[in-house]
Formats: sequence, C-alpha cells, structure tokens
Amino acid sequence: MTERKKLTTAHGAPIGDNQNSVTAGPRGPLLMQDYQLLEKMATFNRERVPERVVHAKGSGAYGTFTVTNDVTRYTKARIFSEVGKRTDCLLRFSTVAGERGAADAERDVRGFAVKFYTEDGNWDMVGNNTPVFFVRDPYKFGDFIHTQKRDPKTNMRSSTAMWDFWSLSPESLHQVTILMSDRGLPQGYRFVNGYSSHTYSFISAENERFWIKFHFKTMQGIKTWTNAQATEIVGQDRESSQRDLFEAIEQGDFPKWRVCVQVMPEEDADTYHLNPFDLTKVWPHGDYPLIEIGIMELNRNPENYFADIEQAAFEPSNIVPGISFSPDKMLQARIMSYADAHRYRIGVNYAALPANQPQCPVHTYHRDGNLRFDGNSGGAVNYEPNSMGGPVEDSRSLEPPLKVSGDVDRYDHRVGNDDYTQPGNLFRLMSGDQKEQLFSNIAEAMDGVPERIQTRQLVHFYKADPDYACGVAGKLNLTRLSEQVAALADLSLAELIEKTSAEAYTELATPEASLAKAAD
Ligand code: NDP
Repeated sequence: MTERKKLTTAHGAPIGDNQNSVTAGPRGPLLMQDYQLLEKMATFNRERVPERVVHAKGSGAYGTFTVTNDVTRYTKARIFSEVGKRTDCLLRFSTVAGERGAADAERDVRGFAVKFYTEDGNWDMVGNNTPVFFVRDPYKFGDFIHTQKRDPKTNMRSSTAMWDFWSLSPESLHQVTILMSDRGLPQGYRFVNGYSSHTYSFISAENERFWIKFHFKTMQGIKTWTNAQATEIVGQDRESSQRDLFEAIEQGDFPKWRVCVQVMPEEDADTYHLNPFDLTKVWPHGDYPLIEIGIMELNRNPENYFADIEQAAFEPSNIVPGISFSPDKMLQARIMSYADAHRYRIGVNYAALPANQPQCPVHTYHRDGNLRFDGNSGGAVNYEPNSMGGPVEDSRSLEPPLKVSGDVDRYDHRVGNDDYTQPGNLFRLMSGDQKEQLFSNIAEAMDGVPERIQTRQLVHFYKADPDYACGVAGKLNLTRLSEQVAALADLSLAELIEKTSAEAYTELATPEASLAKAAD
C-alpha cells in the first residue's frame, strides 16, 4: 500500500490530531492556543470571494480552437495564422441575474466568455448567447441590472421594475424579444450560440482595419425549454446546465461551435444605414454574411471548479495584435469595468492565477500588491526606461490611427435611432408556435405589473409589429385597449411616458371613468 501524505498546517507543520480540539479537560472550554483549529476556522470563513455582481452562476471547461479557413487577409492575429492551427481556450457560461445558488433552467441571457491562450497573450471574447443587449449607453448599465436584481424592500425580484425600465427604454425591445422568445430558456449551455454582440476590429498585416462581429454557432443545435418544462426541471435539478456540460465532457461527447465572423470594411461604417457600433442592433446576414474561421471544441473539465472557473477572469480589454476594439460605447465602458471588477473580486494580481495566466512570457513593470505569489519578478529592474536590459516596447503591435470627430457633448442616443425594425424582423421570422410561446412568456413575465406599464410596453410591441402587440394583449386580456395602443404608437416617447404616468393613465384606459368624474 502506498503511504498516504501527512496532513499539515498551511505553514507545513505536521498535524497530530485532526479530530479533537484542545480543551481544558474532556468537557472543558477551548484553548486559544489551538492554532490548528483557529487556522481551520479562519480559512473556512474566507473560502468565498465576493460573487460576481452579474453572471454569478457559471459553468466552464477547457478546450481547443482550430482554424478551418484562411482569414489572414483581414487579420494578422497569430491565432488565425494558418489553417489547422490549434489554440487552447477556456469557456465560462453563466446566467446573468441569479446569484451563485440560482437554478440553471431559468429564463435569462446566457454569458458566453472565452479566453484564448494565444502566443501573443490572452484574447478574451466576452459575449452572450444573444447578438444584442438591453441598453446602448453604459450610463444605463447599473440601472438596468438593478431591475434584474432584488427589490431593496421586498428582497424579491420585481417584474414591475423590469417592465417599467424596459418600457421607458425602447432600445431594449430587441433583446427583450429574444429573451422572451423560445431562445430565452436554453436546455443547457451546449445548446446556445455565442455572439461577441459588440463590434470589434481586425487589423491586417498591411495595417488595414475591418469592423467585425463574432458568432459561435452551436453544433449541438439550439434546444430550449418551455416555461412549464423548466419549472419541472428546476424542481428536480437546480444544476441542469452544469450537469449536462460536465457529464457530456466526462463521457467524451465534446461540444463544438462553428466560429464565424461578419466583416465590414472600415469605410462602410460611415455610410451603412445603421450605426454599426450600436449594441442593440445586428448586422443583417444579407448585408454581411458569416465567414467561418474555425471550430471550437470543449474537451476538458476543470480539475477544481474554484481554481479554474470561479477564479477565471474574462475581460474585453484582453486583445492581441490583429484584434482590437471599436467605438461601441458599451464595449468602451466594459474595457474599464471588467478588469476593475476582477481587481476588486479576486485581487490586483489576478492575472497570475493559473486560469488567467497567459501561455506566453509575461514581462511587466507591475510590482507588489496583495497576494503577490509569482516571485514578483525577483531582483529585475522595476522602472522603464532603463539601461539595465529590462523589457522594451515593440512598435509592431501598434494599430493604425482611428479617425474620430465631433463636439464633446452628451448626445441623446435615441435621436435618429430605429428601435423597432429589427425586433419586428425577428418577430416576423418566428414560426406560429414560436410567436405563441413569445406571447405567453411575456404575459407570464408581466404578471402583477401595473396595467399602465403593460400598456406602455404594448405600444413598443405595436411599433415593432401590430401582430406582436395583438398577440401579447390577447394573453394579458387587454384587447379592449387595442385602439388606445394604436393611437399611442403615434406619440413621441416623452408623450407616451406622460400618457402612461400614474396620474394620467386612468383616463386613458377607462374613458367612462373620466366621464363619471366629470358628471360628479
Ligand atoms: P437572417 O434570416 O439571415 O437571420 C436570422 C437569424 O435569427 C438567424 O441567425 C437565426 O439563428 C436567428 N434566430 C431565429 N430565431 C431566433 C430567436 N428566437 N432569437 C434570436 N435569434 C433567432 O436575418 P437577418 O440577419 O436579417 O436578421 C433578422 C433578425 O434575426 C434580426 O433582426 C435579429 O433579431 C435576428 N438575428 C440576427 C442575427 C444577425 O447577426 N444578423 C443574429 C441572430 C439573430 P439560427 O441561424 O441559429 O437559426
């Protein structure tokens, strides 16, 4: 029999008894000197790092990305340098709103964050299973997330807050339509597409810039639950997506995604009929078709969930030469906020943790900080410029200049923006069954929401497609308001908000009430 390892304290001293505390007599109180007990309890108290404010519940696995198509005319990124090239990656899926203990089979957007360990550093593609988002200005991100989280008083989630915010923010309609559609409740992470959602850029070897969007198409097929099915699943298994992913990989049934890009020449952005940097819009495939670049396969479960997945830190700021940003306001804000969140959540030296550590050499002049566990660059020179042989910049990774223009101001992002055509297009491509699911899902999600907010939202559905509003109104028993909804659709957003305010609404919804009031 092989001899078992000896148990020690965190500092390496052998532990003689791991069953009984040190006490004054067999019935007596504990002694402060039982440092082994104190270490054990104090370490236990500190086992949790703060959970992510969003995307707290996640699952992940390691895998491989293999290039299948030559895109070197668009990008010099070495990850794409030749067909057949393989790069290690780590993918973390998540739900957005629920806390770490939330059930998996809930209606929610799924996070889809991939880290590619390239020879030029880590490239993170931190996307979702939806091609768009609820807001287009990061100023509104925190407000939006508050509507998805617990009410400050009831400590319960509030459908009124969600629909109040959405109905006051019509740019959310596209994403709301996807969330409430069949795709809003996936059977598991293997059955979702991933999207960069943001526009990024490719830089070619000739220093030419292209605007791009990434698409990861599931090769397992899209599979979804209805609300009723999900209720049953959650009753039996709160970890349904984690279980499905983990067990498939354990059994060697490795999930795969076809990785594609849409490519827009830089100058098209000036004349394209919509703002290509607006996160609430897609680029129709007819305008910019998908170009396959590779296959991503997940083939290795994490050995330790906390070390590999909970401590994994994904950030859109992780780009590599040949792949870069765009003027998308939401992306620009995430470049700051993700790395900032990791510094708060797992500490300033999070990049040196095993899951985040690049597979290429790292040379920086950063030093010290909490939990510096990587040798802190030893005695190497810690300032730059220096004449001591320290690392130096390499101008080959510089990007071509990007022209920007305009007066510095706060611009109303709703001016000139069409928030209705694309949600309408999505609605119109749904089958009859998908539309029915959409109507029911919305009506269920609006249960208990004040009628004036339901009416305000019906107006947005109407503007996307009158049949959309009609279907939802039918499920909400609000068809009596059809004429009012159609009339409200002609108003500006400000007028709509005024008409559906708590003060003005009674008259609008029940003209008889105002007549009766007048007769009093
Ligand atoms: P296409 O007909 O070329 O593409 C339609 C897309 O819609 C397909 O990618 C399809 O995915 C996807 N889709 C189908 N049902 C749903 C759903 N319930 N939720 C989300 N996506 C769904 O048309 P366009 O490119 O002109 O786009 C039309 C609309 O499709 C857009 O307004 C947008 O709402 C939606 N869409 C567009 C995408 C794009 O990048 N152009 C990406 C995803 C959605 P699949 O191929 O997997 O069936």
